[in-house]
Amino acid sequence: MNLLNLNNSEREVFHVLQKRGPLTKHEILAVCDIRPSNLNRIIAYLLNEGMIVEEGQDISSGGRKPSIFDIRKDHSYIIGVQMSHLSIKVVLTDLKMQILQNEERLRTPDCAWDRETVMASVLDFAYRALKKSGISEERLLCIGVGVSGTVDYRTGIIGPADHVSFLDWPHLNVKSELEEHFRCPVYVDLGANAVAIGEYLYGSGQNCTSLAVLGYSAALSSAFISNGKLVRSATNSENHFAHTVINVAGEQCACGNRGCLQTYASISVVVREVMRRIALGENCSLDVNNFDMDTYRFISILQAAYAGDKVCTEEIKKSAYFYGIGLSNYVSLLSPEIVVLTGPFVGYDELYFETAVNIAKNILAKKGITKTCFQKYTHLGKEKGSLAISAAALAFECYMNSPIVSR
Ligand SMILES: [Zn+2]
Repeated sequence: MNLLNLNNSEREVFHVLQKRGPLTKHEILAVCDIRPSNLNRIIAYLLNEGMIVEEGQDISSGGRKPSIFDIRKDHSYIIGVQMSHLSIKVVLTDLKMQILQNEERLRTPDCAWDRETVMASVLDFAYRALKKSGISEERLLCIGVGVSGTVDYRTGIIGPADHVSFLDWPHLNVKSELEEHFRCPVYVDLGANAVAIGEYLYGSGQNCTSLAVLGYSAALSSAFISNGKLVRSATNSENHFAHTVINVAGEQCACGNRGCLQTYASISVVVREVMRRIALGENCSLDVNNFDMDTYRFISILQAAYAGDKVCTEEIKKSAYFYGIGLSNYVSLLSPEIVVLTGPFVGYDELYFETAVNIAKNILAKKGITKTCFQKYTHLGKEKGSLAISAAALAFECYMNSPIVSR
């Protein structure tokens, strides 16, 4: 089966079954711009080529029961990789984006996180996933990698660490490193872009025309899909939202400007402000000496907030307030149908999510903007992490030369 030999109509039917199958011919015709006689020919051809299978028969409303069709999902497989300054994750999926294997390593304050160690782990995880499933390398269709920070999607080279990237693997060519070991195509993109594509095609975005993914972490990432196409930034970074100015007389930001959203509403700011108040002698239950990394401290801060700590609760709400202002600016400008908020903070409590979204909704309501839906987490992958599976989804679209990826 060679998916690349399909003509446009055949490809359209295959894509619909891959994402929404199993379907009857009637259901396929409802979403594809194809004549019934042409669909019969396409179904016969795809069945004969072993690309799709007849899965049985649907419930009849009288007369002959209609056949239902789906792709042959076990013909080839995809590896999805998540790479960030806090975690690496590798998933092995079938063509329906069902996860068969899942390997993950979280960064801890005392573990090595240099480029050689991380790449060795990615390769180890990928080989292990194939071995555990009994799948040979020849059956890999492609590999997708989602990188948090800055990466050139054409070359696969990670950008240097600066004010918009927390990855310290400058000039690491993820694409060529993986292509040295695997014979299939490797596609690399920003993590936020991958998540947006995954959610648009397999999650809540399936019936909408525009969707934004905004990530809250050490940086504030963003990705946007408009009319079925990924909108790319000019500088291969996912962190531009972080450097939108919300106070011209505000604090100095690492980017050189003043008053960026990043200086009010990132994990680093919450940690810094809690630490500052503790240093000033305020009563706080947090033991800040246990962790060296901002994100782990942030988790402790959230836990302290649940337990009723006043300082931690106030600083989280303050950060969420400013994030809500940034959120309202973003939505005012682009009016996405759906805004998906993701990131390590989201699952811990309603505190940040509800505060930020309520602030944004209040500001937007005064401008008459009320239709945007704010969603917590992606539906694809959910809080267990959507980036690796989304990277697999992105890779499939790149492999098929789909318009959404705009490469
Ligand atoms: Zn800035």
